Amino acid sequence: MKAQINEIFSSIQGEGKLIGRRQVFVRFSGCNLQCNYCDTPQGLDPTKGSSFSEEQLFNSINNLITPDFHSVSLTGGEPLLHADFIKSFLEKYDFDCLLETNGSLPDELEKIVELIKYASLDIKLPEHRSTSNWDNLFKNELKSLNLLIDKKTNIYCKIVVLPSTKVDAIKSIVSMIYNEISDISRLSMVIQPSDPLDYWTENSKKLFEISEVVGEYLDVLTIPQVHKLLKIR
Ligand code: SF4
Repeated sequence: MKAQINEIFSSIQGEGKLIGRRQVFVRFSGCNLQCNYCDTPQGLDPTKGSSFSEEQLFNSINNLITPDFHSVSLTGGEPLLHADFIKSFLEKYDFDCLLETNGSLPDELEKIVELIKYASLDIKLPEHRSTSNWDNLFKNELKSLNLLIDKKTNIYCKIVVLPSTKVDAIKSIVSMIYNEISDISRLSMVIQPSDPLDYWTENSKKLFEISEVVGEYLDVLTIPQVHKLLKIR
């Protein structure tokens, strides 16, 4: 089996709860959404990059392992577009993996959920304009979250907040998550302020308000993209 992979590189995780961990990033090609804040446009083209077999991917990862290696990040694009390949790869090669997903493909997630140690799942807001059917996307995100929670994966979800994001919009979506999740004690929410960060320096009150409304329902962390501050990949 083969999969189209845009790039494979070693760096430091700059987002979410594994922030600071040295990882090998496997960026799969193609995505099924089109978010207005997307910072990996090179990951969206399904034809970009090269075709890899399981063995070629194993060799590429192995060549990038350093003494501080923590795990492999399966990212994109949307890695679950390649769920059959990932399943076959992880059944052969036993790496600790972080799945970075948009949560829109629960049936694909089900194929690999037992093989994944960590998962970061994006919750999209209607203002992200990721899809023309936001209700359906949100339903699938909840289904994916419950699947990961039931399998006891180390899971957090993430919301990218834009200068235009309203505190009430965050409150409304987090309360819906709270009501639909099977075990809320297993879920943390990362609030990720978008670029430019200067906006949030000037509007820190709004960031605190967002953290407070999420904190009414869920364990919450506010973390910007640290790799961009360090100017690394
Ligand atoms: S889901 Fe992720 S990779 Fe796909 S368009 Fe949205 S931000 Fe970009």
